Amino acid sequence: MESSTPASAQQVALIVGAGHAGSEAAISLRQNGYAGRILLAGDEPHLPYHRPPLSKAYLQGAVTADALLIRPRAAYEKADIELLPGTTVLDLDLVNRTAAFSDGTTQPWNQLILATGSRPRALPASCLEGGGQPANLHYLRSLADATALAAQLLPGRRLVIVGGGYIGLEVAASAIKLGVSVTVLEAQPRVLARVTAAEVSAFYERIHRDAGVDIRIDAQLERFQTDDNGNVRAVLTTRGESIDADLVLVGVGALPNTELAERAGLRTDNGIVVDESNCAAAPGVHAIGDCCSRYSSAYGRHLRLESVPNAMEQARIAAAAITGKPAPAIAPPWFWSDQYDLKLQIAGLNAGYDQVVLRGSPDDSSFVAFYLQAGRIIAADCVNRATEFAAIKKLVQQRSSIPAPLLADPGVVLKALLETAA
Ligand code: FAD
Repeated sequence: MESSTPASAQQVALIVGAGHAGSEAAISLRQNGYAGRILLAGDEPHLPYHRPPLSKAYLQGAVTADALLIRPRAAYEKADIELLPGTTVLDLDLVNRTAAFSDGTTQPWNQLILATGSRPRALPASCLEGGGQPANLHYLRSLADATALAAQLLPGRRLVIVGGGYIGLEVAASAIKLGVSVTVLEAQPRVLARVTAAEVSAFYERIHRDAGVDIRIDAQLERFQTDDNGNVRAVLTTRGESIDADLVLVGVGALPNTELAERAGLRTDNGIVVDESNCAAAPGVHAIGDCCSRYSSAYGRHLRLESVPNAMEQARIAAAAITGKPAPAIAPPWFWSDQYDLKLQIAGLNAGYDQVVLRGSPDDSSFVAFYLQAGRIIAADCVNRATEFAAIKKLVQQRSSIPAPLLADPGVVLKALLETAA
């Protein structure tokens, strides 16, 4: 008698992209009882690794690449997850449910999770005199990018960073620690202008300047001057400055990797469009992490977020949806950034705020900037306030309405406010 294979063994869940979201989705599927095959295909040659240290501890040489792994290989083996590193998924057929791999094979699937992440926004080609990519002009997304950048961050070298956002400022802090001379060019009137209040920007500008970083605001890149070898030698701004450079980092935002989804016919709009369960508009297809734009009932619109907590949360939500488990609770968006000995933790999205309330003082390098809209807390930036952060996240989630003097009063315990506001 032929042995019968359980139906579940025929099922295949294919995860495209082996980053934070892909790794978490694979493990969560198995933890939720998914009994079919789980394939985790990633175009990078490594096991899934933590990206945040690429601009921090790894760049400073404080940790090695091995220490970056999200999970050891044994964890995937134990969960019977088939790892396919170095595998690019080239095309998808959403009708016949197949995927074309870069090794020439075609893989059938029943469930597809797109976790393709994002990539650095590139500068226009007009910024470079001779075209091509100079060996000393860097973007930072992958371990390979960070390794190449780290190799050039030698004491005494002159690094020019284009973009005063989180990546640019974190790299500035790391480079200063390595004895590199750093200039940051920010096109806006202040660093972190798109994401924080003026008070927080002013604080970070002061911290970086005190550490020796030359921060130039309202400084728009015009183009790079290259030498005979095609390397950048100077960075020219639109107001006529010429800044000598041994190397350059460009950190001007990220774009979602949606081309594969677009080719397959999925709807994209600054990310693969998904509902609150991370389902895309095709049966059996989910998208998670940096690559997707998910509907948020809390915000009443689609959001594309770039953070590790977001990638992990969406991975668990998709895995629950696929296995028919209850959806995990959705937390307010949160993010962190480490620069020098400062831990910045951000809860919520501050778009539309009309009031900023400071708790603590930037002069002490320990404070919270609460963002209020019509008297309700919608977001908060917390610098070195880790012990208060859990309570702050809840205040943000509840959109608590608390009088500004109470929020600002260091003698008032936030946890107690939470109980009052609830
Ligand atoms: P990724 O981690 O980018 O993974 C996507 C993977 O899919 C990549 O390996 C990509 O190469 C692969 N891929 C794409 N297309 C294909 C294809 N067709 N076939 C196969 N594979 C494919 N977040 C924080 O919360 N805090 C921080 O402090 C912080 N610091 C950061 C510092 C740096 C330098 C960077 C780059 C990011 C940082 N982030 C931070 C953001 C965070 O790392 C991302 O939000 C997170 O990695 C998103 O996870 P993801 O799985 O969606 O995408």
